[in-house]
Amino acid sequence: MSKSLNIALLGNPNTGKTSLFNSLTGLSQKVGNYPGVTVEKKEGVCKLDRTTKGYFIDLPGTYSINSSSIDESIVVELLLNKNNKDYPDLALVIADVENLKRNLLLFTQIKDLGIPTILVINMADQMKRKGISLDIPILEQTLETKIALVSTRENTGLDELKKLILNYRIISNKPLVQINSIDKKYFENLENAFPGQLLYKLWLIITQDANFVAIQRTLISDISKFQTKSKSEIKRLQQKETIKRYQFINSVLKKGLQIDKASATDFRSKLDRVLIHKFWGYLIFFSILMIIFQSIFSWSEVPMDFIDNCFNYLSSVASNNLPSGVFTDLLSQGIIPGLGGIVIFIPQIAFLFLFLSILEETGYMSRVVFLMDRGLRRFGLSGKSIIPLISGTACAIPAIMSTRNIESWKERLITILVTPFTTCSARLPVYAILIALVIPDGYFLGFSYKGLMLMFLYLIGFLMALGIAWILTTTLSIHSKSYFVIELPNYKIPLIKNVALTVLEKTKSFVEGAGKIILAISILLWILASYGPGENFNQAENIIQKKYPELAEKEIELKTNSFKLENSYVGVLGRSIEPIITPLGYDWRIGIAIITSFAAREVFVGTLATIYSVQNDDNDTIKNKMASEVRKDGKLLFNLASGTSLMIFYAFAMQCMSTLAVVKKETNSWKWPLGQLFFMTILAYFISFLTYQILS
Ligand code: GDP
Ligand code: MG
Repeated sequence: MSKSLNIALLGNPNTGKTSLFNSLTGLSQKVGNYPGVTVEKKEGVCKLDRTTKGYFIDLPGTYSINSSSIDESIVVELLLNKNNKDYPDLALVIADVENLKRNLLLFTQIKDLGIPTILVINMADQMKRKGISLDIPILEQTLETKIALVSTRENTGLDELKKLILNYRIISNKPLVQINSIDKKYFENLENAFPGQLLYKLWLIITQDANFVAIQRTLISDISKFQTKSKSEIKRLQQKETIKRYQFINSVLKKGLQIDKASATDFRSKLDRVLIHKFWGYLIFFSILMIIFQSIFSWSEVPMDFIDNCFNYLSSVASNNLPSGVFTDLLSQGIIPGLGGIVIFIPQIAFLFLFLSILEETGYMSRVVFLMDRGLRRFGLSGKSIIPLISGTACAIPAIMSTRNIESWKERLITILVTPFTTCSARLPVYAILIALVIPDGYFLGFSYKGLMLMFLYLIGFLMALGIAWILTTTLSIHSKSYFVIELPNYKIPLIKNVALTVLEKTKSFVEGAGKIILAISILLWILASYGPGENFNQAENIIQKKYPELAEKEIELKTNSFKLENSYVGVLGRSIEPIITPLGYDWRIGIAIITSFAAREVFVGTLATIYSVQNDDNDTIKNKMASEVRKDGKLLFNLASGTSLMIFYAFAMQCMSTLAVVKKETNSWKWPLGQLFFMTILAYFISFLTYQILS
């Protein structure tokens, strides 16, 4: 007979929950989302002995269970709801040996819920250096629990922990702190009104302002009838409770914990003097960022080219070897390039998260937050938003995924919504060709106009991101706690296992979460560009051959492709939006390019190449063609006004299906990506309109 146990991992942030979880469950872990919210849910299995399996859940880090952030309410909801399938048989509270006092607050709360709770004191490897000694038997006795002293870094104590887990039944589930002593009368009434219920649990339900969906509804409605205290009285009682708990913890630690200050080294404070210095701190941080993003650009290029070549090769193999027909076209021009469009992001995602998880692991990330928080908070962003905002200059996809570690949901959402404004590398080919076409040669204070224009485009992207963030903070009414307490954890050598698992998990979740959407949209775009209504499309080859009997085969092919695109569904769409985009200075050909470049901005150039019947890779010829193109009104199609207006459009419009897909994945709803698409397009349209009207 095999048995299974549900085990919840709880604890303050940064105590090593995830490291312990990784050590216990390894590659068996699954990452999902809690229903309806975007907090990660990690589950994994570990064999505890021959017959018992442990199902571990790595819960979000919390300092207590009496607040109302999403993270905390997830924890509370699980611990209060016996009907939840994940309801734990036992809880492990992970504490960091250097911050026992603060960590024990959560421990006493969990234990008082009547759940068998084991205290796991982690980072035992630090004890000697920091001069910490613990009297485990005394602590076990006073905290009425079992204690495992472990180091996930050095893999010690894990077997003992497994044994304690298997024997969890011997742990007392009596409350440690008598909650009724904070207001005797009130709790007496409560006890009489709900006989047989655990007092602390009732108290928790009363004090939560999170809305519980799943917890025993009747109990909640009964309690809300019972409630006789005002909000401020309840807050005061909560404070009394916390004081009471700390009194208890102090008395426990007095007996069981000793710190020999003399042997503690001050390596950390020396390092911090430099790393969070008002000047050197920023300088070091921006240098590190620059190195990281440079290497993301240059290192990813190699695997990205390789991936690109592989998929091109696969496409040609498919189209050369399969019988020609609709299915082969779909496979070789729709599905294979679509898959390629997903895989191509993997190198950048992997590199970014490799670096980020090293920064996170070493403890440096908390210093970054400390440095950047004040400046960014003014705009409603968190100190951690600097990472997505800057890595967005490479690509919005990994950037948006890196918002995951912003704790406050509101700050995280705003960061997700504004990150696509930063100038990503896919905009560069569009800017490059347009700047070359419409920005005159000349210098201003020694800087060329062309260079200044490019800098201006980067700048307005960044400023727009900050501006919109500021507007969103004041308009979005989302209740979420933002953390003003910034903790500066100790510096550590990163754990390779943690870094590797992060990279693996991010890559996997991108492919699974956003991949489907990217594939679907790219197939749709392919269909729209490869089929068309009417005779013009179907007879394209004949029509072109009749029209230009003297041309060589290659030329005919290019002209046919151009003619087909003009008469495809995309072409029809491009023509039909012409009246809308004429006020911006564009014509139907640009309209087509705008529609196809929804797949990815750089497609703009390739589409124009097809329309002008030139080879895709021949930038100069495309440029020359574009330079001589005239509109119906006789003016040049690409002039200063229309070209600048077009660059502004690409700066602000959400022209990227992969970004949409990743926002859908990260926010777990279609509401935000579609809102973003709509809003950014309107904004881009409006500003491009103004630009064109002013310049022309
Ligand atoms: P979580 O926020 O509770 O999930 O904590 P993590 O598992 O992400 O770990 C936080 C930091 O503590 C990381 O930098 C880990 O490398 C580090 N860490 C985890 N376990 C140990 C340990 O046993 N000893 C030491 N020295 N560091 C550890
Ligand atoms: Mg964690």
